[in-house]
Amino acid sequence: MATNEELFARAQRVIPGGVNSPVRAFRAVGGTPYFVARAEGAHVWDVEGRRYVDLVQSYGAIIAGHAHPAIVEAVQRAAVDGTSYGAPTEREVLLAEEICARVPSCQMVRLVSSGTEATMSAIRVARGFTGRDVVVKFAGNYHGHGDLLLAEGGSGMASLGLPGSAGVTRAAVADTVVAPYNTVPELDERVACVIVEPIAANMGLVPPDPGFLAGLRAECDRVGALLIFDEVITGFRVARGGAQELYGVAPDLTTMGKVIGGGLNIGAYGGRADVMGAVAPLGPVYQAGTLSGNPLATAAGLAVLELLDAAAYETLRDRAEAVAGIFRRAFADAGVTAHVPVASTLVGLYLGDRLPSDYDGARATDEAAYARLFHALLDRGVAIAPGAYEVLFPGLAHDDDVLAELEAAVTEAVAAVA
Ligand SMILES: *Cc1c(COP(=O)(O)O)cnc(C)c1O
Repeated sequence: MATNEELFARAQRVIPGGVNSPVRAFRAVGGTPYFVARAEGAHVWDVEGRRYVDLVQSYGAIIAGHAHPAIVEAVQRAAVDGTSYGAPTEREVLLAEEICARVPSCQMVRLVSSGTEATMSAIRVARGFTGRDVVVKFAGNYHGHGDLLLAEGGSGMASLGLPGSAGVTRAAVADTVVAPYNTVPELDERVACVIVEPIAANMGLVPPDPGFLAGLRAECDRVGALLIFDEVITGFRVARGGAQELYGVAPDLTTMGKVIGGGLNIGAYGGRADVMGAVAPLGPVYQAGTLSGNPLATAAGLAVLELLDAAAYETLRDRAEAVAGIFRRAFADAGVTAHVPVASTLVGLYLGDRLPSDYDGARATDEAAYARLFHALLDRGVAIAPGAYEVLFPGLAHDDDVLAELEAAVTEAVAAVA
């Protein structure tokens, strides 16, 4: 079988940077990406047969562990009946009902094929519904790669040091206003919507300060703007009803992705029935998709949501605390200055002395130290994201055995880089 080096060399000849999503290229940490051959539970194996405890978990698309038997079976059964029709199916109805049942602010939901599509569409709906142009976003929040939301986008934009993207016209972002996270901006009647990650998880992990989300709700109401929670990461991960359940603040629109596809291509946006009534064919806001509500993706989504009951969230919270504890002890024992924030089931790694509450603070993380830690961990069989602005995704498969394996490797790795 080909080695990682060989595959990366070939990949770079035919795929820009050798990867189909920038962070995967290891630019921020150096070295050659591992090419995954297969994965099961909490582990991935690369093409050279090396095994890693995986905390990347497809950047949050996987929550029940890789190749979970219930999800694999659901996808296999669905595939036998055909992979796409261009006509509605029962599973789309079931998944939409399940989403609306878990997220009460979603009275109606539209399925799309990625988180990017979900946020782009939600913005269009907000503008169409309000008849206004201006969109307010927060620095360091990532909402996918749609033109108007890329400004100060966190995630791979942060690790590549890009403030925005070439190819995005001034006109495309003329109505985008970027505000600092955790400060409620003063809005006016030109604002169509405010879009926010209710727990920021693309600039490391930055939870909302007390009152921030409620403050946004009140300020949006004051000027008649819509509030959009981008729960592509947090939805169905931090609680059954997402971050909005945790913090008790209901947005007008919610965008979702990652978890609800069980590792297949899916996204969704939903919200108030009157707002969603603006979406075609009910209303004038056009949004469509050849593969939207795809049979395999909805089968996987229904299978994963069935696994996510109250007990699962309790387990996930315990796992997150356990993973955080492992890193905290290792840092403390080795005398490394670091913070390991936890927000429900999400864990962050911040290599600096002051826990950040916004993008400026988040960017003070020691990226070089992160790169050293990344490789020390990888050498010892632990995979974290190859960029300092992502988070750790402990899942249902990170059981006691995996945690013991993780603890040994993390303790050694942190000691080695200290
Ligand atoms: C990943 C992510 C997106 C984009 O989703 P894709 O499926 O990668 O297009 C949008 N918003 C947030 C908060 C995300 O983490």
